[in-house]
Amino acid sequence: MHPQKVIGLIGGMSWESTAEYYRLANELVRDRLGGLHSARLLLASVDFADIERLQATGEWDAAGERLADIARSLEAGGAEILLLCTNTMHKVAPAIEAATSIPFLHLADATASAVQAAGIDTVGLLGTAFTMEQTFYSERLERHGLRVLVPEAADRAEVHRVIYDELCRGQVLDSSRDAVSAVISRLADAGARGVILGCTELELLISQADSQIPTFPTTRLHVEAAIQAAFS
Ligand code: GLU
Repeated sequence: MHPQKVIGLIGGMSWESTAEYYRLANELVRDRLGGLHSARLLLASVDFADIERLQATGEWDAAGERLADIARSLEAGGAEILLLCTNTMHKVAPAIEAATSIPFLHLADATASAVQAAGIDTVGLLGTAFTMEQTFYSERLERHGLRVLVPEAADRAEVHRVIYDELCRGQVLDSSRDAVSAVISRLADAGARGVILGCTELELLISQADSQIPTFPTTRLHVEAAIQAAFS
């Protein structure tokens, strides 16, 4: 009655944010269709310790192969749209896209569209050290015409630590909220007109009230783009 494509989720990186993908997708479909309607989802959830080890040792090709295998199995299982539920692992997005024939909704594209729709052209980027310091993510944003600012080294290290040592382990601490808010203030001082919460766990810690500039929560934006696609 309501044609709704099946969304395949490559998740578990970490499961703390994948749980948000699951909740948000179901809430958006409920809001859209009402009643008992919910999202049609296929979730593959990895053991994050395995992936984190490959990140730390720089074995990105191996990580890409592993996630590409998962993407293939989701497509075989009936997924019609694919989401990779982590900003960082978009470093290996090309391997995943090459492995399947279904649309892959790139997180940076969904985010860039929202930043542009807000009329912002200079944006701060928070995320893991990989996301902030390597080019795979910022270049994708820049392709949309955005200017991307990242925090200073000490601030980058602190944000990275909060993600891996706290948020990916389910710890949401007021002291870290204050610290990340201060990082956002310094990005605003440097010229950022908005800030991308470019790690899927960051919106568990930071909401708009914690930032003097508009925030762009990537998990929510990704899910919104996916639900839009599921009904088009
Ligand atoms: N979920 C995080 C992200 O969006 C970090 C965990 C990971 O390294 O995948 O980047």
